[in-house]
Amino acid sequence: MIEMIVKDKSKTNGIGAKAESLRLLSDLGIPVPRTYLIDSEDILGEISDEKIEQIIEFFGSQNLIAIRPSSTIFFNELPTFLYLGISENPKNFYIKITGELNYFKSYCSLIKKISVDIFDSDPDIFDDLYYKIITTIDEKKSSHQELVHFKELLAEYKIVFKDMTGEIFPQTLREQLRLVLKFFGKKWVDLIKKLDLNEEKPKMGVLLQEIASSSASNYCRGKLNFIDKYSGKKVISGFIHNGIPHDISENSFERLAKRIDPLVTKSEVSATQNLLNQDQLETLKSFNQILAKELKDTFEIDFAVNGKDLTVLNFRSSEKSVKAVVQLAVDMVSKRFITKREALMKVDPLALTDYLHPQIVETEDLKVISKAVSASPGAATGKIVFNSNLALELTSSGENVILVMTETGPEDVKGMQVSKGVLTVRGGMTSHAALIARGLGIPCVVGAVDLRINLVDKKLYLKSGQTLSEGEEITINGTTGDIIEGECETKAPELTGAFSDLLSWADDNRSLKVRANADTPKDAALAKKFNVDGIGLCRTEHMFFKKERLLIMQEMIFAEDKEQRYSSLDKLLPIQRKDFIQLFEVMSGQPVAIRLLDPPLHEFLPKDTEQLSILAKKIGVEFKYISRRSRELKEVNPMLGHRGVRLGITMPEIYQMQVRAIFEATSHVLKSGTGLVIPEIMFPLVSANKEIELLSKMIREIAEEVYVNHGVEFSYKIGAMIETPRAALRAGEIAESTDFISFGTNDLTQMTYGLSRDDSGKFLNEYINAEVFNEDPFLSLDQVGVGELIRLASARGKKSNKNLSIALCGEHGGDPKSIFYCKMLGLNYVSCSPFRVPIARLAAAQADIMGSSLKEKI
Ligand code: PEP
Ligand code: MG
Repeated sequence: MIEMIVKDKSKTNGIGAKAESLRLLSDLGIPVPRTYLIDSEDILGEISDEKIEQIIEFFGSQNLIAIRPSSTIFFNELPTFLYLGISENPKNFYIKITGELNYFKSYCSLIKKISVDIFDSDPDIFDDLYYKIITTIDEKKSSHQELVHFKELLAEYKIVFKDMTGEIFPQTLREQLRLVLKFFGKKWVDLIKKLDLNEEKPKMGVLLQEIASSSASNYCRGKLNFIDKYSGKKVISGFIHNGIPHDISENSFERLAKRIDPLVTKSEVSATQNLLNQDQLETLKSFNQILAKELKDTFEIDFAVNGKDLTVLNFRSSEKSVKAVVQLAVDMVSKRFITKREALMKVDPLALTDYLHPQIVETEDLKVISKAVSASPGAATGKIVFNSNLALELTSSGENVILVMTETGPEDVKGMQVSKGVLTVRGGMTSHAALIARGLGIPCVVGAVDLRINLVDKKLYLKSGQTLSEGEEITINGTTGDIIEGECETKAPELTGAFSDLLSWADDNRSLKVRANADTPKDAALAKKFNVDGIGLCRTEHMFFKKERLLIMQEMIFAEDKEQRYSSLDKLLPIQRKDFIQLFEVMSGQPVAIRLLDPPLHEFLPKDTEQLSILAKKIGVEFKYISRRSRELKEVNPMLGHRGVRLGITMPEIYQMQVRAIFEATSHVLKSGTGLVIPEIMFPLVSANKEIELLSKMIREIAEEVYVNHGVEFSYKIGAMIETPRAALRAGEIAESTDFISFGTNDLTQMTYGLSRDDSGKFLNEYINAEVFNEDPFLSLDQVGVGELIRLASARGKKSNKNLSIALCGEHGGDPKSIFYCKMLGLNYVSCSPFRVPIARLAAAQADIMGSSLKEKI
């Protein structure tokens, strides 16, 4: 009985979400329909006559009743039955409640439901009859005509039932109840048998609810939402059915809303005002407020008007975009329903991705032609171009392009910089294209293995056999990985208002610092907009990719001796110095960690012979020499080869130039009084402490020289990137020679797994599907493997140098779960692409708020 639900809370314990929510509504003073609750124990065998009599006594025999299962587990084989009690007898009473047409509809609906669900009848038999009889009604059907047809349909349905069961359709509430409750009992027993015996036995209750009472003269049912699901603004929407809707069940609302089911008479919410009076609308609003205050959310409320009574049938959290979630959280703080810390916990940091980039406006005619790895979020449309030079050419005349390549390399960065987005056939989350695109903040989809590029006929071949030519328009959705034919409408991000309020609260509540990976002054300016705590990784090689710089770099690589190399580096020095001055000025006193050159030198060279011969002419070197030298630089395993600090040891001149440029820029900024600068110099791909000792000595010498030449005292820090397992294991020793260490988890993951960050995208999905890996380890830190190395290295590092600052600057620095892990290990900061900084700021705050419960979250 309703009294059982409301007053004796223990009776609803463990018998399902629906009963629980009804009890809650009732406890909050929100009226619910008259309800009788049966425990599953009562229906496991044949339901007793005594129980049936109690139910009849509770409702009276002249009411319409709904029977809904309410269980502690989701079990979609238990349907809801509506309109129990409807029959020939007494017809007049039901017609009074529902109206004559609705009487026929409801009756048809109950016969079909019982036949299909309980007697396993084929639904097509009923549907065929329905279409045969009802669809003959013409569009401008008169209500009389409709009535006649439904009457005919009912007669046919009764015949089908009789043919199937040999009996007439049960004519009393008593018989109908017995039939349905017996069915529930049997289903429940079958379910329990199917379950693993080790699992906790689920519980079920059956709710019997009054739909319409004999005293009511009108009945309507509807549902309302109080928030716009996209913007989070307060807007009322929903719909209402006048009279009893046909075949309505919890899941059929959306179907009904689309008006697929022609049996439904539906009024849009604009008409709601006519069906609900202002008082009722206000009452429903106040119910939502009560629920919002109690449950800290906003709800979609199912309600019924039964004569003068307004009751709430059900409620569920309203569907919301991330923008709406943020808006609601901030609104709730202003109403004092929740605290700022609670608001911060309401938003999924990763979902903010949608907020930060242009999004595709979803329409039904989107033509998705393929799907691949979503490597950098946002959506972009442009003409397909298959090489960087064409990208530069077309964009200079104002065209929007999407760079589509098998894979990209450093020489394509300039083309990527001008493209709206990048699509590659190969690659994974940390491939070149993915990293650069995230840094640039442009959408990127990689690992599109279903596509094939034919550079001869300049066509993109799809698996379906369709082709797209260079110059045709394509859209990529870097948030979902969708590749779409043609142009799509997009909407721009808004980073003000509720979004910036929430993030400023995040900053007030976090101890883990968040820096950005920014390679150029332009990137740094972008990072500043996202309120970073500094730059955690400046990949200096990206400074060399502008046209005139790349040529000097190439000249330096092909230098025949040290002298020539120095002469090229002398040309690069003022350029680097200027970059660093600008970088320091943009960051105005915030820390900047600069990584010395990392990639193997062949990455700066053209790939084909034609380009190599053009280069030979440009730098005035014989083609034969250039070709031999470029072959020598090629490595079978470049990622494990002559790169990172190994270049610094074997060709110290490059690092010398970079360090000199950093210190001269520091002196310049200090002299000009623009701000305090303490540069942090980082060595990539360290594997032995000796590498650091040798290069630190070089750094000290250059610092001395710059002091003397510029007459300005400055400080600096030296750090090592921990990217090889050996460096992690020897972190104790490394920490003695460094001020900080920063985990380069892209390489550290690659090296720990022995898994190529550029090529593994091809099969990682299969690995994940086969549950070999839970997720892509380049996306979210592998805490038990790579994470174990980080934990061990941090502890060893701290033990030998208690002032050691510890950071993580791989892509994992923008992944919430990895950030939680960093916080748990006590790292000082994480560093990630500028566009992921807001995600990291929120995740860092959540890590602090979770405190000791953080462990359970990771
Ligand atoms: C890393 O390896 O994690 C890193 C930050 O360096 P990069 O991605 O440039 O190799
Ligand atoms: Mg690295």
